[in-house]
Amino acid sequence: MLVLSSPSGAGKTTLSKKLVELDSNLIMSTSFTTRTKRVGEKDGQDYHFVKVGDFKEMIGENQLLEYALVFGNYYGTPRLPVEKYLAQGKDVVFDIDWQGAQQLAQQKGSVEDVVSVFILPPSASELESRLKSRNQDSISEVESRMSQAASELSHYDEYNYIMVNNEIEESIKTLKAIVKAERLKTSRQTDLHKFVESLTG
Ligand code: 5GP
Repeated sequence: MLVLSSPSGAGKTTLSKKLVELDSNLIMSTSFTTRTKRVGEKDGQDYHFVKVGDFKEMIGENQLLEYALVFGNYYGTPRLPVEKYLAQGKDVVFDIDWQGAQQLAQQKGSVEDVVSVFILPPSASELESRLKSRNQDSISEVESRMSQAASELSHYDEYNYIMVNNEIEESIKTLKAIVKAERLKTSRQTDLHKFVESLTG
């Protein structure tokens, strides 16, 4: 499981979508949320948009692998698709906040193998201008997200990797390098045991 977190507007959604496009073994987890749909967002693609009551029902039925209240809205990861993809040998990418990252890391059983990356914006002014140019949120929401950025940023040291998103193509290269190195870890290359045995007779 590859978790990407960042303050809102640092570019993580763009990066995660591009990353899964380039690697057929990576699958993006689609979260449920109670926030309203932004212009251009598609239900079932960007998020599954649901009412608070339905979300709470999913919590009660233990259907969520993790969930959190972010900017006054609920966001959560459905358990079943993730377990299905992992069982198929796929790697799953999550665009979630620090609360979700902590909960995934604490999971026991079939979903405990987490690699986490914290993505930083190049500067505070760049972060603000990205939030504004996105032009999808109201001014009060942009201000609230700027103030929340500080709280999100304070969790950077809980992540395995940290990077600055100066330029999309360069950042994609960095993320691909992280994925490649993680896949090469001895503990993940269980298939190679037999190969090594064959080499030594
Ligand atoms: P946005 O409303 O801008 O799409 O997302 C707001 C924040 O919620 C982002 O930091 C995003 O990563 C986080 N988020 C999105 N989906 C989930 C989820 O399923 N769980 C958690 N914990 N956070 C999420």
